[in-house]
Amino acid sequence: MALKPFAFAALVMAMSSAGAGAAALSPVEQKIVDEVKAHSEQGLQLLERSVNINSGTMNHEGVREVGKLFREQFDQLGFTTRWIDMPPAVKRAGHLLATREGKQGKRLLLIGHLDTVFEKDSPVQLWKRDGARVRGQGVNDMKGGDVIIVEALRALQRVGALDNTTITVIFSGDEENAGDPVAISRADMVAAAKRSDIALAFEATVRDKHGKDTGTIGRRASSSWDLEVKGKQGHSSGIFTESAGYGAVYEAARIVDAFRQQVIEPDLTFSPGLILGGTDASVDATGSKGQAAGKGNVIARTATVHGDLRYLSYEQRDRAHAKMKAIVAQNLPGTSASISFHESYPPMSPTAGNLAVLKTYSQASADAGLGEIPSLPPGQRGAGDVQFVAPLIDSLDGLGATGSGSHSPDEDLEIASIERATIRTAILIYRLTR
Ligand SMILES: [Zn+2]
Repeated sequence: MALKPFAFAALVMAMSSAGAGAAALSPVEQKIVDEVKAHSEQGLQLLERSVNINSGTMNHEGVREVGKLFREQFDQLGFTTRWIDMPPAVKRAGHLLATREGKQGKRLLLIGHLDTVFEKDSPVQLWKRDGARVRGQGVNDMKGGDVIIVEALRALQRVGALDNTTITVIFSGDEENAGDPVAISRADMVAAAKRSDIALAFEATVRDKHGKDTGTIGRRASSSWDLEVKGKQGHSSGIFTESAGYGAVYEAARIVDAFRQQVIEPDLTFSPGLILGGTDASVDATGSKGQAAGKGNVIARTATVHGDLRYLSYEQRDRAHAKMKAIVAQNLPGTSASISFHESYPPMSPTAGNLAVLKTYSQASADAGLGEIPSLPPGQRGAGDVQFVAPLIDSLDGLGATGSGSHSPDEDLEIASIERATIRTAILIYRLTR
């Protein structure tokens, strides 16, 4: 039977109001939401306790103490927990790992971090509530995200929805300054990803320019390059002749300017951050400082340039490397040059798999009456832990709380964003693990 126009319009209205309200949730999902809401205050207390423990990356004792606090929570939820120490040479506190094994649904990896950029000697910014917002060291980056993980799992556990699921939680102790080499400091995270199907990371939820909460399906890789240029030392009056050549400084300038003219493309950036040239030039062990000496009447013998390179996929990286190497090889007379590249964070490429996880998340949010979640343009985030696992499994980041001023003494968080993100996360985990 065909619906009359009026009835059809009423049906459409009923459907759209179902999307805006909570009617699209199953009875169990509605119970999960109720559990989240009933325990929001408890989550906020956990956040306060964690924020009031200083856990700057190099304050290993503090990082372990925050780890202990969260470990207790996962113990209560029936997870098997373990503290992973780093070898002394890595100079980091270690990571918290919590696991549970089951046979149903997707195997999930939930990623948080215990450390903050605020070391012990930073100006103290303890917990301070101010109406709808709260301030404190690491409150949003990312102890707020850690609490969202705990509270989402708690709500699921209360309705029996964790039974028979496979969930691994890793809270790293050195996200803000990963221990070197990353082959060691990220080995446990990578191993956990190999035992999982989907990674969810809880760095802050970022709002887009329309004020909508977003999800992150791509983050650019960070890497660096070193350019070494040689010229022939000689009297400046002979420069540009076949025998004296052009000198190392002109050659370095030619190369970096050709990068600017020929290598730029969307989502790719490269920035020469340090350049030294002259008769002698050297960079010290930190890589961020150096010395140069030269005279106006002497053709420069050497030049060195240090820069970064950020890219969204390995294809883009390879294309950039090839173009840069070709430019480096076209030397001016009397000069030679070489470039080397060093990888730091792998890219989280915006794959179809990542987008599919975002769609499930967005649907969970819409069904809970919290609106759809668009994706954040990949260029808008710095590097994060999720990038170490994104090349292996479908990944979504930016599921944490919302605030402002991260990495600054003004860091704060919007309290209501914790409950919102916890509801979305709990429904997402529920659906992925059925
Ligand atoms: Zn962070």
